[in-house]
Amino acid sequence: SIVVTGATGELGRLVVERLLATVPAESVAAVVRDKEKAAPLAARGVELRIADYDRPETLTGAFRAGDRVLLISANEVGRRVPQHSALIDAAKAAGVAQLAYTGVLGGPDADFRLADEHKVTEQLILDSGLPHTFLRNGWYTENYTANLAPVLEHGAVVANAGDGRVASATRADYADAAAAVLTGEGHLGAVYELSGDVAWSLAEYAAVVAAATGKEIAYRNVPASVHQEILVGAGVPGPFAAILVDVDEAIARGLLAGTSGDLARLIGRPTTPLAETVAAAVATV
Ligand code: NDP
Repeated sequence: SIVVTGATGELGRLVVERLLATVPAESVAAVVRDKEKAAPLAARGVELRIADYDRPETLTGAFRAGDRVLLISANEVGRRVPQHSALIDAAKAAGVAQLAYTGVLGGPDADFRLADEHKVTEQLILDSGLPHTFLRNGWYTENYTANLAPVLEHGAVVANAGDGRVASATRADYADAAAAVLTGEGHLGAVYELSGDVAWSLAEYAAVVAAATGKEIAYRNVPASVHQEILVGAGVPGPFAAILVDVDEAIARGLLAGTSGDLARLIGRPTTPLAETVAAAVATV
């Protein structure tokens, strides 16, 4: 089977959607922890394999020999190494034919804190000896467009990323790439640096939001400590705010600006333009 972990998550749902457009539903399985949340997948004919990464004993039935598996990185920062390690052990024990992993753009060169667990996970996969595909995902455009409300309220995009650029793409773009490596051939041992075709600065992002809304939107580049205070003031827990501020510093250094073209090549089309994603988000605010 083609097996998708995190299939009830935002990226996972899109991957399954794309797979169902390409292969018969009976060849698709979803590793999920919440059966009820996964009911729509089961209704489409997708096999559910119930497992919780925090209880490794539940992972024994998650994979079978010959499966092609997409390991979507988990979402609890700080807990992901033991969680991913348990998944890799289970995949190894089952003898899967392919383990594709959604890591971070730059792989070992990504020197910001959010990348740490991805780097360790890639090494665990290499050490496992499993046939693998590394999908090093750049930033989701939705990381920005999901936070339009405060931007519109204050008329400002606030960050500490300086003039750094972000080659973002949509979750749907990354999902299509994942589906392509799970259904196509020639991807074993491959490392893809996935990112949008165009790297934009936050000043350009502010201009795109302004154009889409008809409002005046400025880019306010602030020192890291000020951004930290603003995020905490807006309710972001301190330690996570620190991680976001650290990401902005990495953006300032150009670490999320790479435009290798790997993503467009894998999906066989250009990545979704920033303005298109912003327009769609503005329509729902
Ligand atoms: P989501 O949070 O929507 O999805 C994460 C998935 O992991 C969910 O389906 C969740 O299950 C599942 N999961 C988490 N913990 C466990 C567990 N203990 N046992 C079983 N399943 C578990 O994130 P996205 O789909 O938006 O993104 C996918 C991943 O990409 C994130 O998890 C994160 O690692 C990374 N990411 C990347 C970003 C980028 O810009 N490149 C931005 C944000 C995240 P459930 O549905 O039950 O909650």
